Amino acid sequence: MITLALSKGRIFQETLPLLAAAGIEVLEDPETSRKLILATNQPDVRVVLVRASDVPTYVQYGGADLGVAGRDVLHEQALASDGAPGLYQPLDLKIARCRMSVATRVDFDYAAAIKQGSRIRVATKYTETARQHFADKGVHVDLIKLYGSMELAPLTGLADAIVDLVSTGGTLKANKLVEVESFMEISSRLVVNQAALKLKRDKLRALIDAFASAIPA
Ligand code: ATP
Ligand code: MG
Repeated sequence: MITLALSKGRIFQETLPLLAAAGIEVLEDPETSRKLILATNQPDVRVVLVRASDVPTYVQYGGADLGVAGRDVLHEQALASDGAPGLYQPLDLKIARCRMSVATRVDFDYAAAIKQGSRIRVATKYTETARQHFADKGVHVDLIKLYGSMELAPLTGLADAIVDLVSTGGTLKANKLVEVESFMEISSRLVVNQAALKLKRDKLRALIDAFASAIPA
């Protein structure tokens, strides 16, 4: 059995064409089914649905043989622990593309705050990534860890700025925020359990090769 860990939403949807290239069709729709283990048309391949930030953990500890995880999650976790032993990252799948950015209220003068050397309050789910980014710039920040709805933080006065993922900018705009800095290109990577790669080499290699051949330009 090969177990593939995916998160619901964009990563699941954008992985489907890659699976199709490997001849794999998922038999249930996670948006309508409440199952967490999804069968495929191949009796020896199944998909498990986990939180986006749990994908590396499942793969690292062998709960899944492989998975698809955003660079945002992988980078944040690499800074938080010292890397993920046992996790092999053979491919950038170029799906779920977006960027990591700093955003503020339209009436907050980010450039002036930096120039004056003020401490900036930054709310984010990506505290380690944000800490590294501002340290590299020599900007003093107070970080506030949030788990969701980051856009709300500057609007309520909780923070001056947020660090979050942006694709179209529609969510920022709808909340009257502006992207003042973009500092990391994000896409999703294939992650593979190294021990599984040895034990199930032929099947996993075939899957990795099929995925590689179907990566969008
Ligand atoms: P959780 O459900 O665990 O709280 P989440 O809701 O933040 O996580 P999603 O928003 O579904 O998770 O994002 C999952 C992954 O999809 C992210 O880790 C990132 O790699 C990618 N992603 C997030 N936002 C975007 C976006 N706007 N455009 C493209 N890809 C994105
Ligand atoms: Mg989600």
